[in-house]
Amino acid sequence: MTTTPQHTPAQQLLDRLGPVERYGSEAPDLGDFGLPSRAYMEDMLAPVAVAGPGSRLGPLEKVHAFWFAGMSCDGCSVSVTGATSPSVESLLLGAHPGLPRVILHHPVLNVEAGPHYMRAHELALKGELDAPYVIILEGSITDETIAMETGGYWVGQGEQPWGPDGQERTVTTDEWIARLAPGAAASLAIGTCATWGGIPAAHGNPTGAMSLMDFLGKDYRSAFGVPVVNIPGCAPVGDNFTETVAAVLYFLQGFGPLPEFDELGRPAWLFGETVHRHCVRGAYYEEGSFAEDFGDPECLVEIGCWGPVVNCNITSRGAINHVGGCMNAGGACIGCTMPGFPDKFTPFYKEPPGSTVSSSASRVLGAFMRPLRRFTNGHLNREVRWDLHDDVPSGFARRKAKPGPVDHIGHKFYDALRRSTDTGRRDGEPWGKTKEWTELKDPALEDRRAHAEQPVSRGREDH
Ligand code: SF4
Ligand code: SF4
Repeated sequence: MTTTPQHTPAQQLLDRLGPVERYGSEAPDLGDFGLPSRAYMEDMLAPVAVAGPGSRLGPLEKVHAFWFAGMSCDGCSVSVTGATSPSVESLLLGAHPGLPRVILHHPVLNVEAGPHYMRAHELALKGELDAPYVIILEGSITDETIAMETGGYWVGQGEQPWGPDGQERTVTTDEWIARLAPGAAASLAIGTCATWGGIPAAHGNPTGAMSLMDFLGKDYRSAFGVPVVNIPGCAPVGDNFTETVAAVLYFLQGFGPLPEFDELGRPAWLFGETVHRHCVRGAYYEEGSFAEDFGDPECLVEIGCWGPVVNCNITSRGAINHVGGCMNAGGACIGCTMPGFPDKFTPFYKEPPGSTVSSSASRVLGAFMRPLRRFTNGHLNREVRWDLHDDVPSGFARRKAKPGPVDHIGHKFYDALRRSTDTGRRDGEPWGKTKEWTELKDPALEDRRAHAEQPVSRGREDH
């Protein structure tokens, strides 16, 4: 069977635009646009970077990372700059043994601007860059062929003499990506807009917004043979991104196989679990206790949480530095990491229809379970000694009722059940349910008592 080569949106765009004939940096003077003039972030960081022949342990000393913004709110940039494990700074400085230094080209974070900023992009396109590069997309790809119908564009970055007769024209993010992706060591999509289209691709959008995968097609492979890597989230957990970058860099450095990705290109170790499985409110769900309003401590499913069916690790990873995250901060999951977001999760903050079955079952089961657990919890909140003396010597406990006769019998029954599985127990009554040990007739305890009553050596005065 023969297969027709896939004509991807990226290829369609390049077919319309034609090849690159000339580069802006070939002009004699780049000009001094931007501040500080002629400063390069790489030049500033190189002297203080840790990575060097002694620490990199592999062939790569550095890797360029070209960050592009499509239809984006810049939230991904914000969350990544807050990452801590590893941090962006540590990647830029090559502070991790074995990792190459990352030379970041970010339109917001870099100090150079204008033609100075675009120079490295051109070198990459010409194949003259001094190290491999990866491309990173934040925000969704737009269908620029729609905008071209009216002579405009949706999202652009820099100008190049690629217009008719060598005229300068704005280069769209799509065009940069379509031209650079085949030569990239890896192509990474960060955030739900770049991974699955996200909010800009919601029903009714006029831009034809799509994901990086949709744009490059399913046959896309990077120069190192890697399909598009996806780190979703709106905004994503910053650590999810920097950790994935580090894992890919270790692969590029030759330290092991490509890390495990799932069938959608997500890091499998980060997106294999559902929100619900690590949620701080999970036990409320199990006991059938549900919040009626935001601000309540219980499970949020009845006010619109989709956590049981959503792949996201924010409940175990936190939002920043292992702190925060949706349910910790009181928010219900609206499925922002999912390919079906947002259209398949609307209306937001309404109970998902599928949750009714399990939440009703939890409510019924919880009606039995909660009193039983309260009962056992009351028993376990008493020292064995307090059971023995029938008292709780806490000033705060003065008004606390002691267990009544029914509770007392119930606790005894519970203890008997518990001890029935204790294969290590000895004969004789257990501590706490018998007479004071001074009255015991057990020979072993008699020995210990006699030993305890012998005078104890007190140092110099005994010699
Ligand atoms: S708040 Fe959401 S994720 Fe947490 S237990 Fe309830 S349904 Fe599950
Ligand atoms: S818990 Fe839900 S809403 Fe929160 S980040 Fe994860 S997928 Fe998005």
